[in-house]
Amino acid sequence: MANPVNLILVLPMKHLVRYFLFHLLVSNAYSQQTTYYLTADRVFDGETLHENWAVVVAGDKITMAGPKHSVKEPAGAIKINFSNSTLTPGLIEGHSHLFLYPYNITDWDTQVLKETDAYRTARATVHAKNTLMAGFTTARDLGTEGAGYADAGLKRAINEGIIPGPRLLVAGRAIVSTGSYGPKNYDHDQQIMLGAEAADGNDLIRVVRDQIGKGADIIKVYADYRWGLNGDDQPIFTLDELKLINEVTRSSGRVMVCHAKSKEAIRRAVLAGAETIEHGDFIDAEIGKLMKEHNVTFIPTLAAVEMITQYRGWKKGVAPEPANIINKKKSFKEALANGVTIGMGGDVGVFAHGENVLEMELMAEYGMPVLDVLKAATSVNARAFHLEHQIGFIKAGLKADLLIVSGDPTKNISDLRKVKFVMKDGVVYRNEK
Ligand SMILES: [Zn+2]
Repeated sequence: MANPVNLILVLPMKHLVRYFLFHLLVSNAYSQQTTYYLTADRVFDGETLHENWAVVVAGDKITMAGPKHSVKEPAGAIKINFSNSTLTPGLIEGHSHLFLYPYNITDWDTQVLKETDAYRTARATVHAKNTLMAGFTTARDLGTEGAGYADAGLKRAINEGIIPGPRLLVAGRAIVSTGSYGPKNYDHDQQIMLGAEAADGNDLIRVVRDQIGKGADIIKVYADYRWGLNGDDQPIFTLDELKLINEVTRSSGRVMVCHAKSKEAIRRAVLAGAETIEHGDFIDAEIGKLMKEHNVTFIPTLAAVEMITQYRGWKKGVAPEPANIINKKKSFKEALANGVTIGMGGDVGVFAHGENVLEMELMAEYGMPVLDVLKAATSVNARAFHLEHQIGFIKAGLKADLLIVSGDPTKNISDLRKVKFVMKDGVVYRNEK
């Protein structure tokens, strides 16, 4: 930048006034906001991989992104560069439970029934931090499982900068039908608190509205649960009940998302208007076609199934694959083959928060091209959650949610574990020297 003192000597008065006015405006605009100039060997913009790109961040926004020769370094910008690195949009976790932690440490019943909301919230603050530090700058949290609307409080604390954590979309208590959900098999003389709110028939109208009033951004519904005669997954709501939930939810500007494993539950959820199908363990060509037709996004939660099976004793890579793993793989492949939109969500909480990348590793292992796995956790999830005008891409005007890792995750997805730098809303949360 030219030295203003020298310019005073050479500029005529008219130009001088304009010069100072211009710099006054510019310095005011930028005085409260830090500017960053980020470069990396590779930049994945949410859809495409580029080489020799640069990204400019001012305040909480990306202001420029493109080839280095066209994106000049702004004066006074903080330079960010790591050798052999890849810059990506902040990742989006599609299915988390920040109020749960691995079941091999404490089983689900105990967490729901014996841990106070205060204790669980204290843990959730750490889970939120671990999620953000792993490069996940946004998460959809799909049910507190017995901790009421503590997720809405957690979200507020993050938004106000009181604790570090991802941008959250929260579901609150989530909805199940009477008789279906756990904790289960206690003496019926006891009133057992459930992991979600039970409602049926017309009462669903009141419950949806109550959940919205208490802070739910999303209405999460269990379309099926393992309450079949042999503990198999069977629908817990009728198609009309799901339609009613969806209608009431939609009229508030929100969306319904459905836990649905069995074919029939997925079918009902899709026909009722679900925005995303969570788990989807039994997708076949017919259901895959239906999902594609209705433009719903599949959130596979492969990691939860793998980890629960391992908690029960399965030695992956040593023992043969049990039926549930074989089914899950088959279902995922059918979804891929039938062109279903596949987002990323691992049901993290079943396994450790901060280990979210495990889901992406499994998506690649189960046959999804690695670049598509990266898209799933960025642009695909952003579109599925109606956030594409804010996040999920590296593009001028979007929020400055950025991640830098060592290596090339478009070739080796596990390179996402080599986190060097995390920014959310233009604030740096991690910067490994
Ligand atoms: Zn879940």
